[in-house]
Amino acid sequence: MSIKKRLVLSNIGMIVIPIIGFFLVEIILGYVLFVIFNREPYGADLSRFLIFRLIAMILVLIITNGLLTYYVSKSILSPIQKLSLAAKKISKDDLDFRIKSNKKDELGELTQTFESMRLKLKEAKEAQVQYEQNRQELIASISHDLKTPLTSIKGYVKGIQDGVANTPEKLERYMDTIYKTTHDMDALIDELFLYSKLDLKQLPFHFEKVDLYSFFADFIEELAFQLEKEQGTAILVANKDDSYIVEADREKLKRVVTNLIQNSLKYMDKQKEIIVHLTSDPDYVYVEIKDNGIGISKEDIPFIFESFYRTDSSRNSSTGGSGLGLSIAKKMIEAHGGEIWADGELGKGTSIYFKLKKGDIHAEDIDH
Ligand code: ADP
Repeated sequence: MSIKKRLVLSNIGMIVIPIIGFFLVEIILGYVLFVIFNREPYGADLSRFLIFRLIAMILVLIITNGLLTYYVSKSILSPIQKLSLAAKKISKDDLDFRIKSNKKDELGELTQTFESMRLKLKEAKEAQVQYEQNRQELIASISHDLKTPLTSIKGYVKGIQDGVANTPEKLERYMDTIYKTTHDMDALIDELFLYSKLDLKQLPFHFEKVDLYSFFADFIEELAFQLEKEQGTAILVANKDDSYIVEADREKLKRVVTNLIQNSLKYMDKQKEIIVHLTSDPDYVYVEIKDNGIGISKEDIPFIFESFYRTDSSRNSSTGGSGLGLSIAKKMIEAHGGEIWADGELGKGTSIYFKLKKGDIHAEDIDH
């Protein structure tokens, strides 16, 4: 019942209940005094009756008012007290409580709104803690990934200074290593820069209609040519009659596919086989990039799109890599409104999938 209704009813009650009470007092008192005790309805008996009646009426008034005021104020004050206690807890940064009300009045509604506000605040606080933790991990990873090559460069420079590289061949080898390490650092810094620009949403995207069939046909042709030398294969599987036109930033898409293909080439322990498989439904074009490489364990799959995440097998190998390639790909695909995910089996191979929303199909608009 709403508070307004409750107040109106209690006011009516404060009038109606005493009136009924007065009648009852009059009847019962009159019956007891004049019928049961056989008193006379005049003189001293009548004035006694009038005094008793007055006292009884005052009592009826006090009890009715007292009970109604107690009930109405309790039903308003106790949720207010609960809310005030909850607000105090929140002001002390304590969000681990629950406030609930099954009343259907204005205060019940306010309590429910308060509870959903508390849940939102709690979520925001947890997200903030997670964000802070990610930030710290990111700084630790960046520091580690920059410190390792720097330490190696320092070691080689010291070796040269101390005359350890005492033959022209040794000196050349030292210089080559220093050059390669600085080159890797340069690439890492470029990736970091790209990653942070994507993270801050400061990288502009230029969307156009892209036919993924011709996009991948070009890509695969080049890759197949490159792999032919090592007896590897790269093929594109698609149904030519289907439409694979999407709204995408061609350059960013190239970057995504390059990152994925580079991984397929990097994490490979046998003759290379890369298959790009295109499928579509009325809303999306789906791309699968499948390789027959070392694969990823089921436990690692949920984490590989996180920044700086590298599986144990790749960390222990000599492939190099920053652990940023897939997180950059994920951010770019998400900036297209798409999704990216992975599947695979350790020792057998990996499939990376992504889906992009279909663009309008006007063949003449397509930029091949
Ligand atoms: P990295 O620079 O280490 O390659 P990525 O973000 O591109 O970083 O990939 C994250 C990790 O996922 C890699 O370190 C590797 O362990 C795993 N991974 C990614 N692609 C493949 C693949 N095609 N085959 C096997 N492992 C892969």
